[in-house]
This record gives sequence, C-alpha cells and structure tokens, in this order.
Amino acid sequence: MLKGKNALVTGSTRGLGEGTAKVLAAQGCNIMLNGFGEADEIETLRAEMESEHGVSVRHHDADLADAAQIDALVDETISAFGSVDILVNNAVIRYFHMIDDFDRDEWNHALAVNLTAPFILTQRVLPGMRSKEWGRIINISSVLGLSARSGRADYITTKTALIGLTRATAAETSDSTNITCNAINPGSVLTPNSEKFVNQLAEEKGISFDAAAKEYLLRRSQPGGFVLPERAGKLIAFLCQDSSFDISGTSIPIDHGRSGTWLQNPAADD
Ligand code: NAD
Repeated sequence: MLKGKNALVTGSTRGLGEGTAKVLAAQGCNIMLNGFGEADEIETLRAEMESEHGVSVRHHDADLADAAQIDALVDETISAFGSVDILVNNAVIRYFHMIDDFDRDEWNHALAVNLTAPFILTQRVLPGMRSKEWGRIINISSVLGLSARSGRADYITTKTALIGLTRATAAETSDSTNITCNAINPGSVLTPNSEKFVNQLAEEKGISFDAAAKEYLLRRSQPGGFVLPERAGKLIAFLCQDSSFDISGTSIPIDHGRSGTWLQNPAADD
C-alpha cells in the first residue's frame, strides 16, 4: 500500500495514465492529475476518485511542451500536497509520418512532450525525493522503445530515449537509500487511442469491434488480448512499493509475451 504518498501522473485525464492514477489512489496516494480534455469530464473523474478512495485529487492542465508550465505543475503539486513522492511520466503526443515527410515543428513538439518534459520533471522532483530519502519515478515507454517500424520515428526515438533516461536516473540515484527509477514497455493497451484504430478497422472491413480487435492484436503479435490500463497501473504500483526498492534502472515489458516473440512478427506497432 502507498498510503499518504503524493503522486504526479502526467497525461492522466484518459487512457493508461487515468488507469494508473486510479490504482495509485486506491492504494492511498494523493494524486495530481495532468492532461487535457473536457473540463466537466475531468472534474467528474477528479471528484469520483476523491470520494471513492478518500484521498486528495487535483488537476493541473500544464502543457508539457512548455517548461514554464511544467514548473507551475510541480510547484502546485508541492504546494497542495507538500511533496512529489511518485512521478509517472506518462503523457504522450504521437505523429505518424515517414522521416522524409516529417515536419520539424512536429518533431520538436514530440521531443518536448515525450522526452524533455520527463527530463525536466525528473530534475524538479529529485531534490525533494533526496531530502525525504524516498522516491519512485516511472517512465512509460512502449514495445516501440524496444523495436521499430515505419512511420513512427518520433515515437520510437522518444520511447527508446526514455529507457536511457531511466538508466541515467537510476545511476544518479543508486547511492540513495530509497529512490528508484524504472520504465515499463506496454504492448497494445485498450485506451481511447487504440479503440479509435480498432473502430477504423471495423468500419473499413465492415466487421464487429471484437473481430477488428482480434485482427488488430494479431497484426501486432499480441493475440492474448489488450493490456488493460488498470493492469499497467498495478505494475506501476508494484514498482512503487517499499519492498521494490532494489529494482531500479530496468524496463519491464507488459505485453502478453510480444517483445519476447519479435522474430515471429517484428513489424508490430504501438
Ligand atoms: P492517450 O493518447 O490516450 O493520452 C495521452 C495523455 O497525455 C492525455 O491525457 C493527454 O491529454 C495528455 N497529453 C498529450 N499532450 C500533452 C501535453 N502537451 N501536455 C500535457 N498532457 C498532454 O495515451 P495512452 O494511449 O493512454 O498512452 C499513455 C502512455 O502509454 C504513453 O506514454 C504511451 O506511449 C504509452 N503506451 C500506450 C500504448 C497503447 O496501446 N495505448 C502502448 C504502449 C505504450
């Protein structure tokens, strides 16, 4: 259990980040939500988490492409809760272009949100973790941090680099009593993003959502089903436990065995 810990989860207004925030709240963490969306929907999510789990839940809409807004997000979390004990670098922006056609502004935007923001957030929270002698940083990478395919250069580059940032952070905290940094590499997760692609496939082929989901997952060497956001959240919560303090600098696949079977189908997405 993580009772009384304070967690900042970026990009937690939907998808894997929302699932993670809910699991951490259920384990007793106060939560700073971050991300975009409809104000009334975010307020409903925030209020429900608070009443269901008896923890304090706030939301800050910092745009992580902007360093000043990242600072404001950290400042407000510390002012609300007193510390950031758990940082989950989850927010993501995705572009879909071949390198030849990649717009440079979009490239820079992806690097800012997916990589520079986790770096700045890590830089901002480490001093507080050092003074409390406790901290957990989890970077959300992907199976595409372990492999590559066409048309995803921004995503592959940033998800791979996050594994490097994870190792670097672990190296620089390895002398601390209880600060760790790890990454997870999810396969296909059932989120609004993947649902959109399954719905497109269902429409193109005139088949049901379930049939399209099966085909979508088969194409990605993940026939065992989608990873659910809550299950990724539980892996993250496991890494945050006191008893996990000697796991640091690693990246853990959560993908139904997919990254262990690349040779069968290396052209997998996500
Ligand atoms: P998503 O696209 O559903 O949600 C992204 C979140 O990030 C949203 O809350 C959005 O508002 C927020 N966000 C985007 N740009 C932002 C910005 N500039 N500033 C602040 N917040 C911003 O994402 P998801 O599919 O749930 O993925 C979450 C994480 O899991 C990502 O890191 C992704 O790479 C990883 N992942 C997802 C899958 C999958 O199948 N969905 C697979 C592997 C890894």
